[in-house]
Amino acid sequence: LFYLVPPLGALVTAMIRFNVVAAAMSRVSELLRLRTEPESPVRPAPVLSDRAAAPASLTFQDVVFRYPGDGPVVHHGISFDIPAAGMTAFVGPSGAGKSTVFSLIERFYEPQSGTVRMDGRDIHELDLGELRAAIGYVEQDAPVLAGTIRDNLCIGMPYATEEELRRVVDQARLGELVDRLPHGLDTEVGHRGTKLSGGERQRVAVARALLRRPRLLLLDEVTSQLDARNENALREVITGITAQTTVVVVAHRLSTVSTADRIVVMDGGRIRAVGTHEELLSEDALYRELAATQMLLPVSELEASAARIGD
Ligand code: ATP
Repeated sequence: LFYLVPPLGALVTAMIRFNVVAAAMSRVSELLRLRTEPESPVRPAPVLSDRAAAPASLTFQDVVFRYPGDGPVVHHGISFDIPAAGMTAFVGPSGAGKSTVFSLIERFYEPQSGTVRMDGRDIHELDLGELRAAIGYVEQDAPVLAGTIRDNLCIGMPYATEEELRRVVDQARLGELVDRLPHGLDTEVGHRGTKLSGGERQRVAVARALLRRPRLLLLDEVTSQLDARNENALREVITGITAQTTVVVVAHRLSTVSTADRIVVMDGGRIRAVGTHEELLSEDALYRELAATQMLLPVSELEASAARIGD
């Protein structure tokens, strides 16, 4: 027994350590599982490679979604169609669920029920890499990093040719800026792009997305005020690309919605109305309110639409 005590003690210590390590490993694997990417199907539908360059259409059908955890339901069974090409703007009060629509399209999250389709195919049938390669996503505060404009455009596309870079610089209405800068594309933009204005930073991010020739461009417009030149430039960028790319914008500005082919009004996780700017001005009270406040609609236009309703 005397000889058995030390090895038994060591065994007990080892078992305790093993339990501690096993518990830690199970927590790590739990965390890893939570952060796993959604799976691609074993035999993904070839829809995206078939139609590599064409603008994509998009459909949400009865989509119900809440973020993981015990937060409230964000989308209460939303349905809408976005045809291929053209521009669709989402508007609505803060928290209505507009940006979350983008997260579901990219499969950053999965809806609890309902279907999201691209070109009529459930996006679960598509290869995740191909799906995301078909989508350009420009966030509200899209990162512009220290380095040159060229460095910023080439993130993820290091072998882009001069010709391709010139194409996206022109498409994103950055040509004038690049021509004005002392070293053109090779001008340093400063820490986080601080030498550029907010509108220019967003257009650099748009140009970066366009380099990959996306079939669908998701653009979360910056909420901060832009000067008239930057506002016009963004509007021109969007109208210039809608023949090759379906553009969907979370819009905060009248200058953006006024050029939209269709506007989707969201409120409290529901689709409230869909129409053109003129249709919604005369048919939807919330849209009128948004236009008057958030979007700074000229009073004359509001009075005119109120008069039309009174007719
Ligand atoms: P805004 O115009 O202010 O950007 P929005 O209409 O785009 O608003 P979402 O950003 O889609 O609204 O948010 C919808 C709801 O989901 C909000 O209540 C928000 O707090 C919540 N939410 C957004 N992102 C997350 C997240 N990652 N985890 C948990 N809840 C979230």
